[in-house]
Amino acid sequence: MISITAQPGIMDIELYQSGAAHIEGVDNVIKLSSNENPLGPSKTAIEAYQRAAFSLHRYPSSDQASLRNAIADVLSLDADRIICGAGSDEIIAFLCQAFAGPGDEVIHTEHGFAMYRISALAAGATPVEVRENDRVTDVDAILAACSEKTKLVFIANPNNPTGTMIGEAEITRLADAIPPQAILVLDGAYAEYIEGYDGGAALVDQRENVFMTRTFSKLYGLGSLRVGWGYGPAALVDVLNRIRGPFNLSQSALDAAEAAMRDIDYTNHCRCENEKWRTWLASGLSEIGVPSDVSQANFILARFANQAEAEGCDAYLQTQGLVVRRVAGYNLPNALRITVGDESACRQVLHSVRNFKAGSK
Ligand SMILES: *Cc1c(COP(=O)(O)O)cnc(C)c1O
Repeated sequence: MISITAQPGIMDIELYQSGAAHIEGVDNVIKLSSNENPLGPSKTAIEAYQRAAFSLHRYPSSDQASLRNAIADVLSLDADRIICGAGSDEIIAFLCQAFAGPGDEVIHTEHGFAMYRISALAAGATPVEVRENDRVTDVDAILAACSEKTKLVFIANPNNPTGTMIGEAEITRLADAIPPQAILVLDGAYAEYIEGYDGGAALVDQRENVFMTRTFSKLYGLGSLRVGWGYGPAALVDVLNRIRGPFNLSQSALDAAEAAMRDIDYTNHCRCENEKWRTWLASGLSEIGVPSDVSQANFILARFANQAEAEGCDAYLQTQGLVVRRVAGYNLPNALRITVGDESACRQVLHSVRNFKAGSK
């Protein structure tokens, strides 16, 4: 008698819902559902990727030194304490696999990124959801949920899908007050969108219990390549390197990411464009009765009167070839998350939401 079963926790995982990319019967959709850079990657990254095509028979670098050095150069970090993964998703998975197991708890916030829960369950640990304070991370609520079982505390700062963030003093207070066996993970997937913000790197340098994750999927426009990285205390990075596959990133991905990291002018250009159109879109939507919290990232969480209006607007936008993200799965049924596109996309979104509001009155 065969009786094959998955490890405990695995069957509690609900499949990750990625942002839709297609609408039936519509050819030229504008995809604003996955927080991608509408301007695409740096030209130098594309060139590096193309050059790598001639070395596809070679295994990639396993120590990833060249990319780690580029990150360290540009952001003034210690290259020895950087680890690269197949997206920051893989770094999140490493953290859960290495530090949490059956009986352990992994804290994430109410509207936090879905991969924290998925990776905690995959590791056999128990995810613990903590409420937020009007869509903002609540440090006191997190501390109240901590116990001797807490191994990891995940916070995205800025958070997705809310776009809000908490300040350095609050993060430091959290790092100082979590239990001694717990790691505070600062997910900086959107850190690059804030000029001068280090994503928590300075705190990582000062503490033994703080770890930062970053990605090339958002501002750097390389979501397809799957490159993310982590920065942490030497002892924690050493643990993660033991479970990292030796060839977890392809050489084409490493090379393209390195070129993207070094193209600082393009990075700055993308940050400025995002800020300009994010501000324009948010204020335009607000004027027509669709408010949002001030976003620090490359998307806006647009709030509607109720779930029916949010769903109605989403359906209408689809008829106009615009794909945004429903976030009911993140406990935000009244909202739609709209990625800040290029100028033309932002104008089309505002125009269409205005038409929808006018028609639904
Ligand atoms: C997009 C995103 C990530 C990362 O994605 P990768 O593509 O796996 O690097 C991580 N955290 C948050 C909060 C995100 O929104």
